[in-house]
Amino acid sequence: MNIHEYQAKQLLKGYGAPVAEGVAILSADEAEAAAKSLPGPLYVVKSQIHAGGRGKGKFKELGPDAKGGVRLAFSINEAKAHAKEMLGNTLVTAQTGAAGKQVNRLYIEDGADISRELYLSLLVDRTVGRVAFVVSTEGGMDIEAVAEKTPEKIITVAIDPETGVTEADVAKLNSALELTGEAAEDGKKLFPILYQAFVEKDMALLEVNPLIVMENGRLRVLDAKMSFDGNALFRHDDVRALRDESEEDAKEIEASKWDLAYVALDGNIGCMVNGAGLAMATMDIIKLYGKEPANFCDVGGGAGKEKVAAAFKIITADPKVEGILVNIFGGIMKCDVIAEGVVAAVQEVGLKVPLVVRLEGTNVELGKKILNESGLAITAADDLDDAAKKIVAAIAG
Ligand code: GDP
Ligand code: MG
Repeated sequence: MNIHEYQAKQLLKGYGAPVAEGVAILSADEAEAAAKSLPGPLYVVKSQIHAGGRGKGKFKELGPDAKGGVRLAFSINEAKAHAKEMLGNTLVTAQTGAAGKQVNRLYIEDGADISRELYLSLLVDRTVGRVAFVVSTEGGMDIEAVAEKTPEKIITVAIDPETGVTEADVAKLNSALELTGEAAEDGKKLFPILYQAFVEKDMALLEVNPLIVMENGRLRVLDAKMSFDGNALFRHDDVRALRDESEEDAKEIEASKWDLAYVALDGNIGCMVNGAGLAMATMDIIKLYGKEPANFCDVGGGAGKEKVAAAFKIITADPKVEGILVNIFGGIMKCDVIAEGVVAAVQEVGLKVPLVVRLEGTNVELGKKILNESGLAITAADDLDDAAKKIVAAIAG
């Protein structure tokens, strides 16, 4: 789960990280009061959407010459004018896709005088099984280009969970970021704070790009992107309260209500499966036969008929889906329950695309009987290979 920049900064501020003062607003009328409450004379008006690259982004409605999604303002009136121009419009960035995202909220922040823009992130480094800092002196808006062209400028420092951030780690990070004097002192305080926040809140990613050295030599978190491990949200009521459903895929929200694991992909075959391993195998075999999955929905082990029907509806709601493959191994899950769920869903929402069903396991004969006697145009398949071939052939026409 992702949250907005202003929320991430609020959270980090609670841990004692240096962030600027700022006010989130939902209407242009609030811009003046928001800016007046800040010290000035420099203000930053920042689009709050769940996507990065806002600075270089373009508003669809404003044309190519208009300013981007993060704007500096040198007076309260200018901040007001920016807010008026930005709110309600659609921002397209390198991360939003061509459709862009509507900007419904702005964050008006006290502006900083920047001396250097650095990159810092924390993530779970699976190769070493540790939380790691990834840092670079080349922060700002083009970190992807740095990673591609000069990867040696990106430095990773993995943290031992037994010790947390040690003095040696701090020294490595300060040196990698070329921090000296007061900035190095700030680093010494900041790195453990960020690590603590990351671990305590079960984050999956914390990206500060840029972390800045200001003209006065001090560090400040200028941008913050935070994403949390969905499987740990149950123990963080405070984090769950930050969810902004308007930023999320409607199908994923519906799936999470039913406790279904739904993942949207780029192809055109919708997949209903049970278990992550079977999901991977199903996608692999679809690709082997030359097509791409549009999504997969994992109904898990103990799903009932209603949950199966919900999963089926979510899969068919995706306009990219040209065919559906149901691939279920009935262990704990029984094949007749799956069959009943599929039939109920098809009867409710109709079936506009070919459907291939492969069932195996407990009550498989009963499951097949339910499908055959449903009178619906369902193609039965015997095994994984047969199922993939049949759905690919059905789509090819
Ligand atoms: P992003 O484009 O979505 O990553 O948004 P950022 O919050 O990283 O802002 C983009 C860029 O705007 C930064 O890299 C800075 O160059 C600039 N910027 C943001 N805040 C300030 C500020 O307080 N002062 C100045 N001078 N520039 C800023
Ligand atoms: Mg940024």
